[in-house]
Amino acid sequence: MARLNAEQLRELCARQDPSLVAGCTCAPLQVPSWESITDERWHESVRLAGTLRDEEEYEPTFEEFHPKGTRYASPDAPIALGWFPFNRSDVHACSRCHSVFLRYTEYGGYYMDHRVRMVDPKLIV
Ligand SMILES: [Zn+2]
Repeated sequence: MARLNAEQLRELCARQDPSLVAGCTCAPLQVPSWESITDERWHESVRLAGTLRDEEEYEPTFEEFHPKGTRYASPDAPIALGWFPFNRSDVHACSRCHSVFLRYTEYGGYYMDHRVRMVDPKLIV
């Protein structure tokens, strides 16, 4: 799977067609901060486009990057590649409006939780 850097992620975001975003089939995924999603919300028009994971990294960090006092769930938290949870995320893109989404899986003792966040290219650092 292609590993994307910040520039490639921005390029992917630049393909978004703003006129198609509202009301698109990917609307349930258009969340500004990380949210748990069930597979039912995942529309088939949204397809895997690459990954931010370093597949050679055995134990990616759980450290987060918040130089401006944001938190994990802040809608304005930076999209900081190489930091948690971006270092565990795959990149998906809607085949209709070309919105870009990140998705990773949170593992607890007895559960798996898929989380998604729509990419705002202004927040990519
Ligand atoms: Zn869409």
